[in-house]
Amino acid sequence: MSKLSIRDLELNDRRVFMRVDFNVPMQDGRLMDDTRIRETLPTIEYALRHGARLILASHLGRPKGRPNPKLSLKPAAERLRMLLDKELARGENVGFCPNCVGPDAEEMALKLEKGQTLLLENLRFHPEEEANDEHFSKQLARLADFYVNDAFGTAHRAHASTVGMTKFMSKAAAGLLMEKELKYLGGALRNPERPFLAILGGAKVSDKIEVIRNLMSKVDAIIIGGGMAYTFLKAQGQQIGKSLVEEDKVDLARQLIAEAKANGIRLLLPTDHVVADRIEPNALTHIIAPGQPIPPNMMALDIGPATIEEFAEEVSGALTIVWNGPMGVFEIPAFSRGTFKIAQAVAENAGATSIVGGGDSVSAVRQAGVADQITHISTGGGASLEFLEGKTLPGVEALTDK
Ligand code: AMP
Repeated sequence: MSKLSIRDLELNDRRVFMRVDFNVPMQDGRLMDDTRIRETLPTIEYALRHGARLILASHLGRPKGRPNPKLSLKPAAERLRMLLDKELARGENVGFCPNCVGPDAEEMALKLEKGQTLLLENLRFHPEEEANDEHFSKQLARLADFYVNDAFGTAHRAHASTVGMTKFMSKAAAGLLMEKELKYLGGALRNPERPFLAILGGAKVSDKIEVIRNLMSKVDAIIIGGGMAYTFLKAQGQQIGKSLVEEDKVDLARQLIAEAKANGIRLLLPTDHVVADRIEPNALTHIIAPGQPIPPNMMALDIGPATIEEFAEEVSGALTIVWNGPMGVFEIPAFSRGTFKIAQAVAENAGATSIVGGGDSVSAVRQAGVADQITHISTGGGASLEFLEGKTLPGVEALTDK
């Protein structure tokens, strides 16, 4: 990695500002799922074990620049205290500051002792955070000696806590989670073991055009499934019934098919389909066999058995696999088989480096019970898509070069 890592910093006795992603689901002030806190624990524990005085900051929800008790990070501090290694969470070791800047924050940060943690209140209670305001950035920077970013999920946003404040810190480094994201996503794009296969799915072509474009110059094969496949099938002149289609993207799909052909990249589309007349759990489903048209009153909601077999075969031969987006409306059991079968196929290819990103595909590999057989599950939906589009993420760019 070309950027400084937390492992390159001499942390002992230093005040370290760590941008984390504690944007956890809350209901009436109760924390519903602590996955994101757990994911960043290794970085937090690393810093504490190396004698840092640790200041943690995050956003939570969309408070629109105003304090909102429902979006307070206080419950996250309590959860962190429970999750941290007992040795590190002793007594008053995990504190909470009701503001992220100003005299209180400065005083509490100054009083922190070695091995103690202070979680600051929601950064987005201040409009200056998302505005990447310089004065606010300086106020945040004043709290610490070093900066660490472990919030990959917000690295595609240029905010005060992800970009602005790094200018005013002597060193800005990637946390362990951030480092892992860059290692796997960056490694796949820069130097993949071949064959390199991309599996793209989900509802819209328009959301993934840039990803397809960028990957086209890097992969050996692309599988396109899910709702977005039907714009491609329409471009090939197939009858797709009332399946999802983006009429204004049909020409582009045709162009991408031609481009793949010209570059010798295998582009795989569904050949058979699970269809129904509506997207509902109790809808009557049919399978449309390869080569058969989808009737005008039906829509394709999952890939069919022949397609599952073809896609799984392609997956089994790949050495690098990047997957983003489900193969069908997997939220409904009747249309979930394709997505789960692909999840299994990816998991079964133990020799490949497999990278899964995007909320839906991550949730699919978890539901399929194969998450632990995936090499890397990306924590940032939007950020990982932008990464796959070939964009430089501002929050990564802002880190100090090695
Ligand atoms: P995205 O956010 O673009 O990754 O899209 C995910 C959504 O696409 C999921 O909610 C799926 O239900 C939906 N989806 C997948 N396949 C289809 C399909 N064939 N028709 C309609 N929606 C689909």
